[in-house]
Amino acid sequence: MRARIHRGAAEVGGNCVEVKAGGKRVVLDVGWPLTAVDGEDVALPRVAGLADGHDPSLLGVVISHPHADHYGLLPKVGASVPVYIGESASRILSEAAFFSPLGISRQPSGYLRHRQAFDLGPFRVTPFLNDHCAFDAYSLLIEAGGRRLFYTGDIRAHGRKGARPARPGPPSGRSIRCDRPRGP
Ligand SMILES: [Zn+2]
Repeated sequence: MRARIHRGAAEVGGNCVEVKAGGKRVVLDVGWPLTAVDGEDVALPRVAGLADGHDPSLLGVVISHPHADHYGLLPKVGASVPVYIGESASRILSEAAFFSPLGISRQPSGYLRHRQAFDLGPFRVTPFLNDHCAFDAYSLLIEAGGRRLFYTGDIRAHGRKGARPARPGPPSGRSIRCDRPRGP
């Protein structure tokens, strides 16, 4: 299993990580860069099939939580690319579409649920509900080919779910830790 961080390694937000195993790929988050200015047309990261859905090796996009710096480029993702997100997060974005350009009406292919693993080709994805100021936020354990990658998403440990930090089980494998906001 290999991971390529397209955005978010040297900046806060704008996250996009492409994970590859067995000739297949999944993308974790397609965030809007926080450095983008109003009216700027931000391109999708260069991930094969992400914009047009024409590459069958791309199995889907998993959105960790409903903050624009993690989902904001989703409208540019090809309509045939499967999207996975928390059910409440999806509803929040759908309802917000009436009020805000940051809302999104897009039917997910599946919902993230705490500790309910699901398979995407060679990948087993296990969401862990975490403590973050965004509602319905998850960390993601990705397993494939005997290797593990833990993508924290944004986390904190002092909020109302602070007693329930993401715990993926045995502390083995690699991890990608995202920002830990200091706000409420
Ligand atoms: Zn966030």
